[in-house]
Amino acid sequence: MNMNAQNKEEKIRFLKGQYDPEAYHFVLIDPQYLVNPDKKLYMQKEAYEAFVAMAVHAKKDQVILKIVSATRLFEDQKLLWENKFSGKRKVFGKNLAKHYKDPIKRARAIMQYSAPPGLSRHHWGTDIDINTVETDYFKKKSGKKVYEWLSIHASKYGFCQTYTKRDACRPHGYNEEKWHWSYIPLADQYWLDQIKWFDPEQINGFMGCEAVRQLPVLEHFIKGIYRY
Ligand SMILES: [Zn+2]
Repeated sequence: MNMNAQNKEEKIRFLKGQYDPEAYHFVLIDPQYLVNPDKKLYMQKEAYEAFVAMAVHAKKDQVILKIVSATRLFEDQKLLWENKFSGKRKVFGKNLAKHYKDPIKRARAIMQYSAPPGLSRHHWGTDIDINTVETDYFKKKSGKKVYEWLSIHASKYGFCQTYTKRDACRPHGYNEEKWHWSYIPLADQYWLDQIKWFDPEQINGFMGCEAVRQLPVLEHFIKGIYRY
């Protein structure tokens, strides 16, 4: 592990995105690899270097890979989550606060695609969204080409699509995300730690956390990933 977390509490704070990325020597992503070059996005150095090597290879094959989202801290995820939970930001055109009065049903609806704060793999500096976060992109020719390239080559660089199609092999968890790729050489250990230390009491500090605690977070959402 290239982080200096020494004790369990510190590691749990890390897994929940409650840390300073600069203190862990995360690196700033070069704007040439960002969809929005004005953003300041961080990744762990090892994962970033693997991404750059992959993007250079892809470019030679006329496939452009750019990052939409990389490390998101607890507070970043909290803002995304609460905007959806409160209805401030619509989800597929719906104000979920109006549509689902029951907070458990509302949390479940958000969790089709978004993790609650403290539970996102984006907290780890290992997971990235590539080119888009829209399913429609992959229905077009250019999107299909990108996805096909990643499906063939990403694993050579350590990247795995954790949220594959929901089927008999992956019956639970977040819906398919063809844009979300995880750098497994680092992320797999974090995932194992997350399972080992999971405690519903850690799900706190955001709007709707009581509702999330009622859901099968560990069995369906944390464990519900594709893992090669
Ligand atoms: Zn993602």
